[in-house]
Amino acid sequence: MKLKTTLTALALSMAAAGAFAQVVGVSWSNFQEERWKTDEAAIKAQLAKAGASYISADAGGSPEKQLADIDSLISKGAKALIILAMDKDAILPAVNKANQRKIPVVAYDRLIEAPGVFYITFDNVEVGRMQARAIFEAKPKGNYVMIKGSPTDPNADFLRGGQQEIIDAAVKKGDIKIVGEEYTDGWKPEVAQKNMEQILTKTGGKVDAVVASNDGTAGGVVAALNAKGIKGIPVSGQDGDHAALNRVALGTQTVSVWKDARDLGRDAAAAAVTLAKGEKVAGAQTWNGGEKKVELQAQFLKPVAITAKNLDEVVKAGWIKKEDLCKG
Ligand code: BGC
Repeated sequence: MKLKTTLTALALSMAAAGAFAQVVGVSWSNFQEERWKTDEAAIKAQLAKAGASYISADAGGSPEKQLADIDSLISKGAKALIILAMDKDAILPAVNKANQRKIPVVAYDRLIEAPGVFYITFDNVEVGRMQARAIFEAKPKGNYVMIKGSPTDPNADFLRGGQQEIIDAAVKKGDIKIVGEEYTDGWKPEVAQKNMEQILTKTGGKVDAVVASNDGTAGGVVAALNAKGIKGIPVSGQDGDHAALNRVALGTQTVSVWKDARDLGRDAAAAAVTLAKGEKVAGAQTWNGGEKKVELQAQFLKPVAITAKNLDEVVKAGWIKKEDLCKG
């Protein structure tokens, strides 16, 4: 009896000390974009709040390394995985492995189409619409360039689909001519810059607007335009990167679709802990909008288009300090 009481007391104090805390493993694809650091901080904060612990690995842009990373997160005792996939297909064996071990997988920001995955992201088709809408309002006619995301990231085509919805009628009417369209390997700004340079050479600089799919690629596009002395044409982006918000303030970028990564990180971490306990995530929806139509539980957050008109929104939300804006 005494032993039992002592053991119970020991178990309670261990639980209080976090000895039974859930370990959540986060696999990052790469840290090249500013935004992932914000996502990481939010995930860590929420896990700490839930008494769970954070372990992570960064694949540095390599799909092969990401597989090895996930193996190692599993062997370090991860009870749930949050995965930002570098490559939608290459990631599948890792997800199967997790499924076999009954370790829940949260597909973070980017879709992983495998049964059992919990998918949490912003509405990426809407992000694409917002990007194209801001560009179309500024330039309803002319030569358009479409700078897409990484071909291994399903978001690239979700965005492109949303963009097309907005410009489709004008393209069919002949008001808009798409004079260049390229994916951006690994979402790398330098690849976007090179692609833009080639399009400018091919078109003799006759470009009136650029729908770029994120702020990193927008940065590459703006550098290519500047090098040719082309100024004042509308360019889109997304992420609310500080450099991009400054370009919006200065007028060299028209829109940055802001996705509050603090909310995504928080909700994903909360979902991972819930799933690790074998519980269902409240408020999730059933969704099958991927290319393979796999039915998943999903959660979508709302993006906000930031232009010169509503820049104060990101300041008010504590995303950027007023003094860090417009450092032109
Ligand atoms: C994300 C974007 C990000 C891009 C490059 C996409 O999947 O949705 O926010 O800019 O990846 O990392």
